[in-house]
Amino acid sequence: MTLLEVENLAARHGLLQAVRGVSFTVDQGEILAIVGANGAGKSTLLRTIAGAHPAAQGGVRFDGTDLAGVPAHKRVGLGIALVPEGRKLFGELTVEENLAVAGRRSRPGPWDLKAVLDAFPMLEPLRGHRASSLSGGQQQATSIARALMTNPRLLLIDEVSLGLAPVAVDAVYESVRTLKDAGATLLIVEQDLGRALSVADRVLCFLEGRIALSAPTGEVTREQVTAAYFGLD
Ligand code: ATP
Repeated sequence: MTLLEVENLAARHGLLQAVRGVSFTVDQGEILAIVGANGAGKSTLLRTIAGAHPAAQGGVRFDGTDLAGVPAHKRVGLGIALVPEGRKLFGELTVEENLAVAGRRSRPGPWDLKAVLDAFPMLEPLRGHRASSLSGGQQQATSIARALMTNPRLLLIDEVSLGLAPVAVDAVYESVRTLKDAGATLLIVEQDLGRALSVADRVLCFLEGRIALSAPTGEVTREQVTAAYFGLD
């Protein structure tokens, strides 16, 4: 079943066209990885789907509903959660308080404080720690856990592994696999091509605001994705 339909979507920053009319779909239960060079438009795309940035053209349908004019907080209510680049936690609040704040916007579903702490065992001993005192990997785990607290049907994660130590990347990806096994649908932006290809069902490569390549990960080589990444034929 198609969960997300992106149709001819464009987004701008002033005069700059960051996303130039892209179309793709994401099926329920699938992991779609978006790769591409810095500035290719990946973050802008995710933010536009989440309603944090306006669309200049085209549209997004979620589970058959047209999201035109639906503000970001209402999209959370429909089941779309964004883990933004830079994580954006409340630094003065503890891990548990950050999770609880998100839980107040929760849809009905399996994810509550206990369930997310079970999924991210590394957070259990950090419950009472201020978010600002955490390492990068701990912050990323908290940020994903916080998004889960809303019981999303679609989780958008920007820059999954950027700036994390390898061991933290392993831990975060282990939880991504756990989420997939639990039936979650994920759209992830990942700088690390090897990781993207190993975890995702499908990969989209962005080049200057357009989709240069779209393929099931089992049907594409690393070399083909790299060529699309650099705009080589
Ligand atoms: P990165 O990996 O660097 O985040 P990206 O693929 O996610 O890259 P975007 O962040 O979406 O790309 O940026 C797309 C284009 O829009 C770039 O040219 C960028 O400089 C520009 N841009 C992004 N955010 C803003 C902003 N707030 N104001 C002006 N221009 C912006």
